[in-house]
This record gives sequence, C-alpha cells and structure tokens, in this order.
Amino acid sequence: MTPKQRFHAALDMRSVDRVPLLYQHLGAASYLQKATGILTKDAFEDPEKFAKLSLESFNQFGFDNVMAGWGDLLTESQAHGLKWKFTDPRFYPRPDAYLPLAEASEIRPVDPMDDRYWSVPLKAASLMGDKLGDEAAIVGSCGSPTWIFSETIGMEPLMMAYFQQPDLVHGVLRNIIESCKAYGERAHEVGIEDIFMDDSGAGMEMVSLEMYEQFDRPYVFQVMQSWTKLGLRTIIHNDSAAPYYESQLDLQPKALHVHLQAVEPAKFFAQLRGRTCVVAGIDHTTLLFKRAPDEVESEVKRLFELWGKDAGFMMAPGCELPYKTPLENILRLKQATIRYGTM
Ligand SMILES: [Zn+2]
Repeated sequence: MTPKQRFHAALDMRSVDRVPLLYQHLGAASYLQKATGILTKDAFEDPEKFAKLSLESFNQFGFDNVMAGWGDLLTESQAHGLKWKFTDPRFYPRPDAYLPLAEASEIRPVDPMDDRYWSVPLKAASLMGDKLGDEAAIVGSCGSPTWIFSETIGMEPLMMAYFQQPDLVHGVLRNIIESCKAYGERAHEVGIEDIFMDDSGAGMEMVSLEMYEQFDRPYVFQVMQSWTKLGLRTIIHNDSAAPYYESQLDLQPKALHVHLQAVEPAKFFAQLRGRTCVVAGIDHTTLLFKRAPDEVESEVKRLFELWGKDAGFMMAPGCELPYKTPLENILRLKQATIRYGTM
C-alpha cells in the first residue's frame, strides 16, 4: 500500500498492511526549517514555501500524511477579526489584539480563499498534490467553530458571554460554521480528502459537559455533516486533559485522536473499537521529547498489545511534536510502528 492508501484504509476501518502514522501540523519544525531554509512566518504568506515546508516532513519523518494547515490555531480566527503578530519567525504567530466582544455581532462568514492567510494552506495543498500524487495523504486542518470564536474574541470574554449573552454566542457560531463549511468546499476543490478538526476545548477542565453540548458540539456536528456530504473524512482531535470523547464519538467522526495520558487506553480502545478509527496519541511532551528511543518503543509495543489486530487504528503523537523533539525518538516511533504494527 502507498502511505495514502494505508492512511485512508485505516480511517475507513479497512485492513492495512501496517498501521499508519499520523503526522500533525508542522511537528518538529526545526528539522524542516533547517533542511529547506524556510521559516514558519515566511511560509504563512507564500503557498510555495508552505508546501515545501510541509512536504519536507514526509521526506524526513516518513509518516503517512502531510498537513495543509498548522498548529497556530489562529489562522481562521484572524480571518474573523483577531489581530495576530509574529514575534519570532521560526514559530507560529500569537494573538496581538482580540476583537472586542461588543463587535462580535459583526462577525460574518468568510470564504477562506478570499482571506490573505487562510487561503495559503489551501493553495499549498494543491501544489503538494502535484508533487505527491497518490503517495501521501494531504490532510486539511480547521479549528472547531467554538475554538475559532474563542480565539477571535479571547477565551475569557467567550466564557462570560456563555452566561450573559448566550443568544449572541449562538448567532456568531451560526456565522462561523458557514466559514467552516466553505473551508470544506474549498478543501475538496483543491484535492484534500481528510480534515483534521481541533476540538480540544471539549474537556472538563475547560467547560462543563452541558456547556460543551450546548455551545460546541451542535456546531461541530453541522460542519462535519457538511464535510461528510462532500466525501471528506473527519478526524476529531481532542488533547484536552479530560476529554469528552464519548460525546464526540456520537458525532460519528471517521477518527478520534486523544492524548492517551488523558484517558484509560484500555477503556478508550474498547469504547471506540469497531465504531471509529482510534488515533493513539503517544505522550509528546515527556516521552517523545525527553526520554530515550527504547522507552518510545516500549510504549508503542504496549499499545499494540492492548489494541490487537483489529482494523481502524493509527499511531500518532498526542499533539503536534515540539519544535526540537529528538529526531531519534521520531524515527523510533516510526520503526516501532512498523515492527509491531505490521499486519
Ligand atoms: Zn492538540
């Protein structure tokens, strides 16, 4: 199987020659920047540079996909009124000025192709498709509607608005989901077949389950329905410390990706098995970042023993790999997946 075939087969819960590896965003970017001479800031403004930097991840790490859309989690929000700034060209931009809550009612749907920055990863996806052909999957990336809203006006104002102005919140979210639906259409047009949605606000440390189910989940559901109608596969990412994954499972994503330290892996696997593809997120903050390759391998082995041989399984870091994750650990993650995950 090619990496793309393997990646799609796992998402569709069909059998694979070996379990694929999900590469998230622009993980371990230091190596990619060094090899290409392209810094992250420059890639945000230029589809060709964006494509080159993303493609380099496939050359260096050899996971089964690349991503058109990175882990800044702000690109969609800046299209809706956030002002961002680049403080260091090697890293993602940061919020500079949130849109005042009083102006939130003016947020309108955006066509990503009309936005200076949001259009870049889409144009880059098209270029990557020309280079990769059917070799690796190209995965789009979009924040959940609530996440986009939160990063547009700031987390605290949004939390206050949940209590004080729920009608305003619902009204804005109805507009933001139109932008997300348009993203799916544009992604489909440039040849993207899978979209990674970050819905990491769905955790007990952030909101109550009731608040999640009132303000977050229904909008994720509407966006996912629209994407699914276009034939796009959906991967929900939730690396919250106490993820409401059972509630997200009911949304019927093609895959669910959590940080395994936030759940009981055996229970998590049992609940998802046969229902949706499990993306097993190995600890990226300590294990992959600070420990030895043999420890990475032991963890991969342990997870394969827990999972077994069923279809619908993928290996991944728990979230985007830190900038300078040791290369030997990344490569061992892949080697161990080949060793224990070949079917
Ligand atoms: Zn994450």
